[in-house]
Amino acid sequence: MKYWVSLLFVVSMLFMTAGLASAATPVPKLVLDGKELAPEEPPALINSRVMLPVRVVGENLGYIVDYEKTKKVVTVKSGSTTIVMTVGSKTATVDGKKVAIEAPPLLTKSGRTMVPLRFINDNFGATVYWDNAAKTAFIYSASGEGNPGGGDNGGAGSGGNGGGTGNGGGTGSDGGGLIGVVDPDEGGGATDGGSVTPPTDTPASVIHSVRFDGDTIVLKYDGAVAPTASVLTGPDRIVVDLPGSDFASDFDPALPADPALGKTGELAVSGHAALQKIRYSLYADKPKTLRFVLDMSQKWNYEIQNDTAAGEVKILLKQPDQQQPQPGNGTYTVVLDAGHGGSDPGAISVGGKSEKTFNLSVILKVQALLAGDPRLNIVLTRSGDTFPSLSDRYNLANSIGANLFLSVHANSNPKNTIKGTEVYYSRDASLAFANVVHQYATTAGGLQDRGVLKKSLAVTRETVMPAVLFEAGYLSNSDEEKVLFTEDFQNRVAAGLAQAVKAYLNLT
Ligand SMILES: [Zn+2]
Repeated sequence: MKYWVSLLFVVSMLFMTAGLASAATPVPKLVLDGKELAPEEPPALINSRVMLPVRVVGENLGYIVDYEKTKKVVTVKSGSTTIVMTVGSKTATVDGKKVAIEAPPLLTKSGRTMVPLRFINDNFGATVYWDNAAKTAFIYSASGEGNPGGGDNGGAGSGGNGGGTGNGGGTGSDGGGLIGVVDPDEGGGATDGGSVTPPTDTPASVIHSVRFDGDTIVLKYDGAVAPTASVLTGPDRIVVDLPGSDFASDFDPALPADPALGKTGELAVSGHAALQKIRYSLYADKPKTLRFVLDMSQKWNYEIQNDTAAGEVKILLKQPDQQQPQPGNGTYTVVLDAGHGGSDPGAISVGGKSEKTFNLSVILKVQALLAGDPRLNIVLTRSGDTFPSLSDRYNLANSIGANLFLSVHANSNPKNTIKGTEVYYSRDASLAFANVVHQYATTAGGLQDRGVLKKSLAVTRETVMPAVLFEAGYLSNSDEEKVLFTEDFQNRVAAGLAQAVKAYLNLT
């Protein structure tokens, strides 16, 4: 298992001071999942457009936010999604694709980057709206990780075999936006940063190193520690706090040498099935608390062991059981999702037909084939030419506790020779279902087999049950366009998809 180290900028805390909220004009507020955030730079109305501080919003949504000062470029990353914005530019990129921003990001006097609310709503996997009467921007994350008492709403906190498994009753945020990881130039009056004044409270322990091996993260320490942990979703994270702890002066990997950069860093991981990165920071000062955030590509369980004799806290990562879904009330709930719809036609075929029409037609056929089975409860994200948002779709599936999620699309490519059928999934827990869909539906369609592919797509990533997105063929290819809109092809593919659902659920 190899790993490498990269240091992230830094800084410790800047709690909002009460004096900032003067009585005269109300300071606009930022509320995430019902919890008020206290950004150093509040939302602002600029040229009658609501602009939000991108770092605080991004980090509280679980993104890694990076600011390159010389180029004035903000990079926001989550999983495989990367959004790049440049101050003053009305063009951003999302996963390399150019996207227009209705107003260019701007830099405030205090060095914070502000981005239009709409752009965040459209690209950050969250729903954002502005309540002008309350002068408040309300943000609803996909995961709702800020809900009361939350922090582990992803469930499955512990590994379940005894010995100090943990759930600290999470905070609803991994603190990225509240604490460290502020650019040096954005840090303003950053306080801590290894200053010369001795700490007023002596930590009970110091942490010498963090390393990663196999499925285990090891924190070496001296003194006494009592780790607490919680699980966050959207993206998946395991957060481990060590109250009463500080970094040892010889902490490995080394913290930034420049005290102004504070005490933050990250350890990138490659080669693990789920763990992508370990971030760490001095999360709180009174008492000194270190926070280790494990960025996961998918939900894994964990177990924390504290070996006091060896002075090691071990975080053991455990792959969740790949169980068949359990039926509720004797039935399985299957969500069928016809891609696009309404104002969003999806891809337009070479002959000018809309993808949304194909998708709905196939989904309605699958529904018809499965509807008669009393063991199945079939739910559609749309049954007509309407446009539920991506979050509407996965929120529906998650909120009703669906056992399976199946989305149907047709693809398009500027290169019109590209053709064939693809089966997409995002989380490893969906691979088995993807393979079954491939086995039945790709075969039934009979087009070129482009296989089973892993890709971060909102509906398959943000759902919590096995979820697959079926791309039946390419509308940009004239041969396939003709086939895709035939009754015969749609009937065969629908039959294959219906068979796949039953086969996966062992209902054949
Ligand atoms: Zn589509």
